[in-house]
Amino acid sequence: MSRFWAFFCCFFAAAQNVAFIHPLPASLVNLTSSSSDDYFSAITPIEFGYLIWSSFPIKVYIEPIAPNVVEGTGEDRRWRTWERLARKAFNNWSVYLPLTIVDGIELSDIEILREYPPTSSTRAKAGQTRYCLYQSKDRILRHKMIIKIPPNLAEYSLQSTIEHELGHALGIWGHSDKPSDRMYDSQSPQAASISPRDINTLKKIYQQPTKLGWPVSYSSQDSTKINSLTGSWREKPKSNSSCFQ
Ligand SMILES: [Zn+2]
Repeated sequence: MSRFWAFFCCFFAAAQNVAFIHPLPASLVNLTSSSSDDYFSAITPIEFGYLIWSSFPIKVYIEPIAPNVVEGTGEDRRWRTWERLARKAFNNWSVYLPLTIVDGIELSDIEILREYPPTSSTRAKAGQTRYCLYQSKDRILRHKMIIKIPPNLAEYSLQSTIEHELGHALGIWGHSDKPSDRMYDSQSPQAASISPRDINTLKKIYQQPTKLGWPVSYSSQDSTKINSLTGSWREKPKSNSSCFQ
């Protein structure tokens, strides 16, 4: 083997387990913020790096009104409010990352569902965001986010909860320590909207390395991890090996 091929093979072998940095989306490059403060130290990468999107626009599915709901009823009005506020949260985050709404759930990167999340043993959750990893046909490691927002929240809670959960789905996998931020751990009257600290944190996350969005030849150890993480994204997964049927 020539020295060139020896070098190339060594590089490729090393690259299999290395995370890389994606280009920063233009919407974040051009961003100016009134402060430089952030809570990046509270963000947790998963085994495969930071939960960063790299194919834009990010496709979002918002659960539409069920066909059996009768127009003009209380259920119809509640559902319309839920959908309106989900779209408002979508619009508010669209300023910072390119997002688009898709009609088919199978086409989406992020699902926003009008469902009760499973209750934990410690406390009932207002909302829940979970991730699912899979390898696409082009052998790229990708992720999908599933957000569950209960139908019975008051309008104020609904708005802040959807916006908070969407922040997790866009990559802020952690919580702020300040009540004035949207990503504070619990609902706070001081957090009226997405804050400069939320955005500074998002921008820093998108400058971190990740294995997501890159073609990777997985080791058998990695494949086991992917399957186990994929299997845990929904209470009753249809398959242990893929998000999609
Ligand atoms: Zn949270």
